[in-house]
Order: sequence, then structure tokens, then C-alpha cells
Amino acid sequence: MNVRQKLIAERIRDRIWRICEIVPPIKPEPQFWLESDCGPSYCHSCAIKARADEFGLGVPLRDSNRWHCETDLEEAFYDGIDGGRDLESDSTAACYSCGETLSYILTDYGVTEELGYYLESPLASVRAEDSYALDRLCLNIYEGSSRKILLEAAVVVNQAWQLVGQVHP
Ligand SMILES: [Zn+2]
Repeated sequence: MNVRQKLIAERIRDRIWRICEIVPPIKPEPQFWLESDCGPSYCHSCAIKARADEFGLGVPLRDSNRWHCETDLEEAFYDGIDGGRDLESDSTAACYSCGETLSYILTDYGVTEELGYYLESPLASVRAEDSYALDRLCLNIYEGSSRKILLEAAVVVNQAWQLVGQVHP
């Protein structure tokens, strides 16, 4: 393994960890989706509402807190909701209904896309959401990463590093 690439990967990961110490990342909830549509991801409460729509439940029953019915029906209801675990995906994840960031793990393709996005629109500040995005990138940065990914990640992480350095000298 190329020693230089190994050092670059370690440096990138160290910086991301330090950035996450300074600006703790959000802790998003996992993705949920409806078994029937293989479609969008939702946060848990929006998944329940989407499932209620699918069930044709009226507005009063859409509120998950007031959900009560016979056990079999309730089971069928919840059987239609899948998720709650991390899957690899080609893009970041947000709830289809409320837009809340959801937890995700990027594929290498997703990392390339995400780095391209950051290079085109550099960060102006590092918020908790950005720390989380960097933390996710970090999962795919290792000495076996391609040179392109390592170099682009180095640029993006150094931008964030400088921003954090300016706020916390
Ligand atoms: Zn939601």
C-alpha cells in the first residue's frame, strides 16, 4: 500500500474527528420506508403517517399517538413499515415528508457525488449537519480509496478545518 496515501487518509480522518469534537454532529434517526412502494425514506413518525394514508385512515387516526385499534390490524399496519437500520446508499438521506436529515452510509459513488457537491459549493460555516456529513464521508476514507477521492476529500476537509479554526482559534 502506498505510504503517502495511507498518511493522507489518516490525516483526513484525524481532522474530521477533531472537527466533530469541536462541532458535534447531529444524531439523525434511521430511515424507514413503506414495504409497498420501495419509494422514499421517512423519519419514523412520517412513515407512520404515510402508512396511515396508505391504509386510508381518516385524519384523526393519522396521529400516531392516538393510534389504537384491534391488534391484528395494528400488526398489519406496522408490518407495512420497514427500516430502522443503516443501508448503503448513493446519496445523503432526508425524510421525504418533513425534510429532516436521516442517518445514512454512502457508497463510494455517493462519496464521489458528495465531494463534487462540496467542491462546487464550498462550506460557508460548519454546522452540526455538516459535521455529520463529514463523519459519513470519513467512513469511506481509507488508504485504499482512490487518489481522486483522497485529494478531493483533503480539499473539502481542509476547508472545514479552516472554518472551524476561525471560530475556535
Ligand atoms: Zn419526517
